[in-house]
Amino acid sequence: MILLKNGMVYLSNDKKIIKADVLIEKKVIKKIAPSIDEKNAEVIDCAGMHIFPGFVDMHCHLREPGYTYKEDIASGAASAAKGGFTSICCMPNTKPAIDNLSTLDYIMRKARDVGKTKIFVIGAMSKGIEGKEIANIATLVKGGVVGLSDDGNCIQVAKLQLNVMRYASIYDIPMICHSEDYSLSGDGQVNYGYMSTKLGLPGIPTLAEESMVSRDIMLADVTGSRVHIAHASTKRTVELIRQAKKDGIKVTAEVTPHHLVLNENACDGFDTNTKMKPPLRSEEDRKSLLEGLLDGTIDVIATDHAPHSDYEKELEFMKAPFGVIGFESAFPVLYTTFVKTDLIKLEELIDRMTSKPANIINKEVGELKEGAAADLNVFNLDESFTFDESEILSKSKNSPFIGMNMWGKIYYTMCDGKFTWKV
Ligand SMILES: [Zn+2]
Repeated sequence: MILLKNGMVYLSNDKKIIKADVLIEKKVIKKIAPSIDEKNAEVIDCAGMHIFPGFVDMHCHLREPGYTYKEDIASGAASAAKGGFTSICCMPNTKPAIDNLSTLDYIMRKARDVGKTKIFVIGAMSKGIEGKEIANIATLVKGGVVGLSDDGNCIQVAKLQLNVMRYASIYDIPMICHSEDYSLSGDGQVNYGYMSTKLGLPGIPTLAEESMVSRDIMLADVTGSRVHIAHASTKRTVELIRQAKKDGIKVTAEVTPHHLVLNENACDGFDTNTKMKPPLRSEEDRKSLLEGLLDGTIDVIATDHAPHSDYEKELEFMKAPFGVIGFESAFPVLYTTFVKTDLIKLEELIDRMTSKPANIINKEVGELKEGAAADLNVFNLDESFTFDESEILSKSKNSPFIGMNMWGKIYYTMCDGKFTWKV
């Protein structure tokens, strides 16, 4: 047994933080109470620390199989654990893509062997995520995928997307849509507008995202399927989702920490760690994302952890791949930027990183309550540190937050009652 004493504990049922002890027996949270005495337990003093439910990330890339020089299931799981995550969902743009049972089984088996975090798998919408033919959705769903996505790609042909959604509406499973019209985004590198002009780079207009968001909302309306808009980045995307929710369409959405914290000005200086899809947008867009998160239009914060190796990111801006890592910085960046400045309540931030994503993928994870799996993390919110490249556990170091001073140092992560990260 393990007894966490005197922590500030977030209770998932009440969305409230109280001072309490937490007793863990085997894989389960046995008891949460103001004071617990248990002679046989290993006691860990958590005075001055916060105990949260393990974070749930519904959007990440583990790169295995196919690109293990960027990340693999073991390094990704270790990185997630160090960020306080106990459940993560990996996207299907691996090689081969996760459009078949053998790749799905391989990942699920490997994840169980590694054991550092619960790994759920998102299956492909189209075969090979090529946007040409519908994937074998029934097989993938039976195999245990928790969502469908061609993330990294976006199905351009509306008729195919309609068929995917019609098919998926049979199952209670979200369609996770990376919304991008390639005829509009073209070879764009950064947000279209001031920054693309200043840097002399081709721009990605907000319309490339918004036109697809609007299409997919309409298709969701027609088919009755559940649509989840991945990494929302523009003001009009937020408005479209807000209206769709009012209209009773089954739509949910996520935003990433980097889109919430940074704007396109971060790209000034050609740092390829600021190159991602969708691109960092204007300050007006960023503010709308925050507003959308606060009023519930945007349900979830997801990392979109997208590792790329040094030699890929050290190319000139035009040639470097899109994407940034996110597990190890997500909570401290959000806590520092929004909770310490009173823009977001701590309880609200935890909710958006635990129960909300768990509900969308329909899994009973990320809950701190008696009887639930012992998935949790322990942070000292009064301790600051510099986000240092040498301490990153991901195989890749492509983070725009390297060098940033952050509050909220993680001490422990526990998954199914086992420590998966310890300082
Ligand atoms: Zn994406």
